[in-house]
Amino acid sequence: MNYSAESLTRLAHRVLSSFGCADIEARIVSDHLVQANLAGHDSHGIGMLPMYGAQLQDGNLIANQTPQFLQRHGAVSVVDARKGFGHHMTVLALDHAMETIAEHGVAILALRNAGHISRVGTYSEYCAARGYVSIHMVNVIGHDPIVAPFGAREGGFSTNPISMALPFEGKAEPLLDMATSTVAFGKVRVAHNKGEQLPPGCLLDDDGMETIDPAPMATNKAGALSAFGAHKGSGLGIFAELMAGALAGTNTIADATTFPNGVHNNMLSIILDPGAFDDPQAVSERASSYRDFIRSRQPAKGRQAVLLPGDPENISRAKRSAHGVPVDDETIRQILGTARHFEVPEQDLAGLLETV
Ligand code: NAD
Repeated sequence: MNYSAESLTRLAHRVLSSFGCADIEARIVSDHLVQANLAGHDSHGIGMLPMYGAQLQDGNLIANQTPQFLQRHGAVSVVDARKGFGHHMTVLALDHAMETIAEHGVAILALRNAGHISRVGTYSEYCAARGYVSIHMVNVIGHDPIVAPFGAREGGFSTNPISMALPFEGKAEPLLDMATSTVAFGKVRVAHNKGEQLPPGCLLDDDGMETIDPAPMATNKAGALSAFGAHKGSGLGIFAELMAGALAGTNTIADATTFPNGVHNNMLSIILDPGAFDDPQAVSERASSYRDFIRSRQPAKGRQAVLLPGDPENISRAKRSAHGVPVDDETIRQILGTARHFEVPEQDLAGLLETV
C-alpha cells in the first residue's frame, strides 16, 4: 500500500503523543521519520515507532527530556542528551553548538547518551539549511556489536553511520549519509518484514560465511552484518566508534551497557562555516562546478546516469511525494499494535491513514 506522507505523519504524531511526547517533540520526531521514508530510508522511518514504545516502557528512552549542556571549550560543546528522543535532542544540541560558529568559524559538538537519532543525514540538512558544511560520525550502543570487523566472525561495532554535506542554495548537496555496514540494520528488519532476502555481501552467519537470509539477524541478532568496503569500511566503522564513543561520548560498544531493544547513539559533529575559508560564494561555485563535473561523466555500460550521493534520496523524495510512501502491512500492523498498547482510542486511528 502507498500512503500519503501527510497521513503517515498524522499517525506517527498520534502514536508519539500517546507516548507522552509534547506537541513540539511529536512534530520533530514524526517529521524526521516520515522524511526518512520519503528519502527512501524505510529502515529509519515510521517503522521505528514500536521500538521507541518498547524503550520508553523500559525506561531507556525519555519523552520531553532536557539536554544537559555540560561544558564548552573554545568551539567544542559537550552535550548530554540524557536518553531523550535523539531526533529532538540533537536539534537542540546542534543549535547550542552552533552558537560558537560566528566567533570560531567552526562548531564541534560532542553529543552523548541520545536516544536513537535515526537518519543522520537529517542533521547535515539542518546544518546546510543554515549555510554550513558538516561532518557527523556516530556510534551505536545499547546492544551487542552486530557488524563484524574485517576478517572476524563476530561483531566488533555496530552500523556506525557517517554523514557529510556541503550547502547549496540552502540544501545539503551533495549529501553522503551511510551506515558503515554494507546495509543498515533496519534494512534487514524491513527485508524480513517483507519476506525478502538480502543481496549477497551484507550478512554473515555464525561461521562468518555469507548468507542472504535476514531472519536470524532480524529476529535474534544472530550472525553479523558485514562492514562495507572490506578492510577500508571496517576501518571507518572503527574510527566512527572511536570518534563518537571514546572522544565525544562516554562509552564505546566494548564497555557500554546493553538493554532490551537497545539503541542509543553518541555523535561527533564538525560544523564549518565556508566563510571562514573563503568567500562563501566562491566555495559554492567551486563545489557546484565539481558537482556538474561528476554528473557529466559517461555512465558505465547499462547505467542511465552518474549520480551524486544524495541524488537517490532526492529522486525517491520526488516520487514518493507524488505517488505516496509504500509501507508494508506488517510494519503498519506493528505500529497500530503499539498505538493500541498505548491506549490510542480506535476512533482516533480510524480513517487516519490515507492511501494514494
Ligand atoms: P544507502 O546505502 O542507501 O546510501 C548510502 C549513501 O550512498 C547515500 O548518501 C546515498 O545517496 C548514496 N548512494 C546510494 N546509491 C547511490 C548511487 N547509485 N550513486 C551514488 N550515490 C549513491 O544508505 P545506508 O548505508 O543503508 O544508510 C541508511 C540510513 O541509515 C542513513 O540515513 C543512516 O544515517 C541511517 N543509519 C542510522 C543509524 C543510527 O544508529 N542512527 C545507524 C546506521 C544507519
